[in-house]
Amino acid sequence: MAESPAAPPRDARPITLRDLAGMEVQRLAGVGPKTLTGLHHLGIESILDLVSHYPRRYLDRTRQATIRDLRAGEEGMVLATVQSIESRRVRGGRSMVMATIGDGTGRLRLSFFNQGWRVKQLPIGTEAVFHGKVDEFRGQRQMTNPVVDLIGTRTGRIIPVYPQSEKANLSTWELGDLVAQALRRCQPRGLAEPLPAWLRDRHGLVDRATALRGIHEPASMAEMAQARRRLVFDELLRIQVALVRAKRELERSALGIEHSADRGLLDRYLGRLPFPLTRAQDRAIAEIRSDMTRPLPMHRLLQGDVGAGKTVVAVATLLTAIEGGHQGALMAPTEVLAEQHAIGLRRDLAGLTVADREGGLFPERELRLALLTNRTTGVERTRVLTDLAAGAIDLVVGTHALIQSGVGFRSLGAVVIDEQHRFGVEQRAALRVANEDGRVPDVLVMTATPIPRTAAMTVYGDLDVSVLDELPPGRTPIVTSWARTDAEVDAVWELVRNEVAGGRQAYVVCPLIDESEKLEVASANEVFERLRAVDLAGLSVELLHGRMPSAAKESVMAAFRSGDVDVLVATTVIEVGVDVPNATVMVILDADRFGIAQLHQLRGRVGRGSYASRCVLVGAEPTPDGVARLEALVRSTDGFELAEVDLDLRGEGTIMGERQKGQNDLRLASLRRDREWVAHARDAAFALVDGPGGLDAHPQLVDEVDLVLRDDDQEQLLKG
Ligand code: ADP
Ligand code: MG
Repeated sequence: MAESPAAPPRDARPITLRDLAGMEVQRLAGVGPKTLTGLHHLGIESILDLVSHYPRRYLDRTRQATIRDLRAGEEGMVLATVQSIESRRVRGGRSMVMATIGDGTGRLRLSFFNQGWRVKQLPIGTEAVFHGKVDEFRGQRQMTNPVVDLIGTRTGRIIPVYPQSEKANLSTWELGDLVAQALRRCQPRGLAEPLPAWLRDRHGLVDRATALRGIHEPASMAEMAQARRRLVFDELLRIQVALVRAKRELERSALGIEHSADRGLLDRYLGRLPFPLTRAQDRAIAEIRSDMTRPLPMHRLLQGDVGAGKTVVAVATLLTAIEGGHQGALMAPTEVLAEQHAIGLRRDLAGLTVADREGGLFPERELRLALLTNRTTGVERTRVLTDLAAGAIDLVVGTHALIQSGVGFRSLGAVVIDEQHRFGVEQRAALRVANEDGRVPDVLVMTATPIPRTAAMTVYGDLDVSVLDELPPGRTPIVTSWARTDAEVDAVWELVRNEVAGGRQAYVVCPLIDESEKLEVASANEVFERLRAVDLAGLSVELLHGRMPSAAKESVMAAFRSGDVDVLVATTVIEVGVDVPNATVMVILDADRFGIAQLHQLRGRVGRGSYASRCVLVGAEPTPDGVARLEALVRSTDGFELAEVDLDLRGEGTIMGERQKGQNDLRLASLRRDREWVAHARDAAFALVDGPGGLDAHPQLVDEVDLVLRDDDQEQLLKG
């Protein structure tokens, strides 16, 4: 049903996105049943859907040439008419369509491989824009598989090309016309502007109406770029406002612990370390302590590459809580890691004392540490649980067993979660549970899987972030190589033998098998048997995989740590955290099956001591993406740089994982291309939320956040 174009009352308020969302698209003139079905296929129901159906690309006809001017070897674009077209069968039953086009200045041959439908699309006499690379075939210029745009009657210098679908059966100019009509109808009342002027000025952003016109009907590519910038900003800002608002609400409602600023215990610990802190460690500890001494609960993420020294920062956090008489918990994702942490902490904290608040004979007592995993059973378990509840244990190290019911603390002051990516959302949330007095512990989440800063702002947007961007001095960089040929692989085992002969140790990581852990274990067994019997015969080789009983795992790890085992053949159970400085070789089999982050993690198991270390990626026939990944690993040892490469290769969809799926607001914005804008949007969100009047001063914006990021999206965004 067509809406009469009568002018609205003069004082009508400007149109909001919510208004547009409430108007059905069939109210536009010319939307009959066929068009409507097509629009619905594209997911377009409302006028808002329509105007946010952005062009996929643009035909820049200022770059249009005539056929006469086309040069072989260069890209070109011409507007021309089809003069002949025919389909032929070629070898293997495939088809080839040959066409000739002309524009009055000359003729050009086109060939399309396996696109038989072109005959129907381009009957003789059709006018279209053709673009592609010009090549020469038997002295004649031609284009192979050019891009074809039917532009109908569209004129103008820049022509938008809309995303379409076969089913929708709508031409790009039909879509363009509908959008143009919708925007025209908005003109009398104008579009409401959710951003304050100062914010638009600060970032040089055009207003909303200009942006919508500029994205759909740009007069130049520069105008389009400006429009895009504004719309990208809007998308990113909505997400950041949702995150920052949630963060502030949490802070308002939660009661934290105001930890003591005394640093006697911390300084005694730091003073005993055989090394000075790196500047990055110093900075991170200062940031954490500043959070902890405030009454708000801390929710902080510590990002640091493998080997950056996150453990020291974790201990500093826990000791800050313990100093004031609270308890600390360090949670690791696996038993192997929890046990390793317990060993390290027992060594580093031995003999440290804390104030005895239970009225013992002496003012001080020894700091007490306990390990709690699923292997802690029977009497030992009962003792640990009793002591935790009584406050007789200051620091507990464990796995997720720590958050099982029945584990109670006297006063849990700080929780550090190591290697966060192994933990689920619920597990993280469970540790935020309040103490009996209603105060929640401070939480530090650590991850060695660096994600680009901008992605972190979105994925962990409700957390504050500290970064260890500096490795302790004196590390010899790990030299990484890629073994593809049989000879190169043989050389790998030679290298392992040589290192072992020199007193060092090696890891061999078995192929990753997605389908099942069972198959993975089988393949690991096979690799293990072969290496022990053939390639590494005579060396002490042991196997470690996730399905072994934990006692067996721990005894293998202990033997490897003590140097009794030369070579550890393992599945990815050794991916995170394992620290054996004497190990200098990491061999990763079928390396192209692993992702960049995982390879980088695995590689980080070596190069932890003062010896020169090597990592060899074994992979014979990787996919193109696999090649790019392996080459990136060979080229760089910087986790943050690799994270950027990963983002480029995989796109944000994967990096954001589940979280991104439910989120439909990122239509134009790309966390890759628009990195800097993520940061701007985050700054702006803080400025708005914390500014005079808070978000209440920006009702329009709040309304858009709630409209566009529907409830489930917001929930999705804030989870974790
Ligand atoms: P990650 O960040 O991977 O958890 P760790 O905390 O395990 O790193 O530290 C890796 C190694 O570096 C450990 O052996 C640790 O003792 C050592 N280390 C940590 N900080 C420093 C420092 N400031 N100077 C020298 N070595 C350090
Ligand atoms: Mg660690």
